[in-house]
Amino acid sequence: MWPNGLLNIISRGQRSEPYAYLTFDDGPDPEFTPAVLDLLAKHHIQASFFVLGEACVAHPALVRRIADAGHDIGIHSYSHAHPWRLSQADVREEIRRCYHTLADTTGNATQLFRPAYGRIRPAALAQAKALGMHTVLWNRSVIDWGRWGTVEAIQRRLTATKPGDIVLMHDARPEANRPAASFTALQNFLTSERAAHCQFQGLSCLIAKHPAAKR
Ligand SMILES: [Zn+2]
Repeated sequence: MWPNGLLNIISRGQRSEPYAYLTFDDGPDPEFTPAVLDLLAKHHIQASFFVLGEACVAHPALVRRIADAGHDIGIHSYSHAHPWRLSQADVREEIRRCYHTLADTTGNATQLFRPAYGRIRPAALAQAKALGMHTVLWNRSVIDWGRWGTVEAIQRRLTATKPGDIVLMHDARPEANRPAASFTALQNFLTSERAAHCQFQGLSCLIAKHPAAKR
């Protein structure tokens, strides 16, 4: 049986509203994240970044730049360890450590948690809830990794974005993802006719507008 907490995971927004939600995992990265931030600023788009604790320690100024630009920052995990390969205590520690590292970096407590690999553990849901966070997954992945992660394929998946979609992308960890291809695809998409019909917000707007989506 799944724990009740599973029912409280947010994986997409409202279809009846015009907003979609771009999300970037695994950063920040000094090469890719600034380019993404410049691109989002150029198009006046607010997005959400799910950061790693290790990356916050390595690039604190970049984390603050994301926050200063008005984007939402959530936690992903401290080290991107696979939750299914950790003890329950370590699952909790990955979250707790990342949460406090981010809070120390930005001066603000986040409300957003996305588990590494999107893999759910009851201990993770409980820890996130205890820290006052909402667990957020996605309903549309651009699949910016592996052999499917070509610019053309990523752009095609982006172009299919619909109102209410929470879109999973990556701005870091080129050893595992294709952040360069993802950036180019996003750049192409945002200058296309199709993107003009989309409106994008950060996930805090989704949570604020829909308190029922809270835990
Ligand atoms: Zn990740």
